[in-house]
Amino acid sequence: MEEHDIICTGCPKGCRVTVTVEKDEITDIKGFECPTGKEYAINEYKNPTRILPTTVRVKEGEFPLVPVKTAKPIPKSLLLEAMKVIAEKEVIAPIKIGDTVIENILDTSVNIVATRNIEKK
Ligand code: SF4
Repeated sequence: MEEHDIICTGCPKGCRVTVTVEKDEITDIKGFECPTGKEYAINEYKNPTRILPTTVRVKEGEFPLVPVKTAKPIPKSLLLEAMKVIAEKEVIAPIKIGDTVIENILDTSVNIVATRNIEKK
């Protein structure tokens, strides 16, 4: 039997949810104070995902980097590989908030999008 403590990020309360696992099966979940926390803990144990915020190099821009993020959470296990793909990317200014900088990163169906405007210099 293993216990995994997970902090629910569903609201500022930050409940500590304990997931008990036996032979890869969840046998008990304790500590959540609403259904969101139970669902969050199950997802976090089975398939943890994260929004990835980072930057991409910009050519001919007022700044050399543009902040970007994944448009949706991607599996936590792909974060390092995604960072490598993003590190290879370079875009040309101007860039507008919401522009897709990389489409369908690592076949996740998730785009990398700009989170600020960068004007041409
Ligand atoms: S379990 Fe519910 S009350 Fe607790 S942090 Fe998560 S969303 Fe908030």
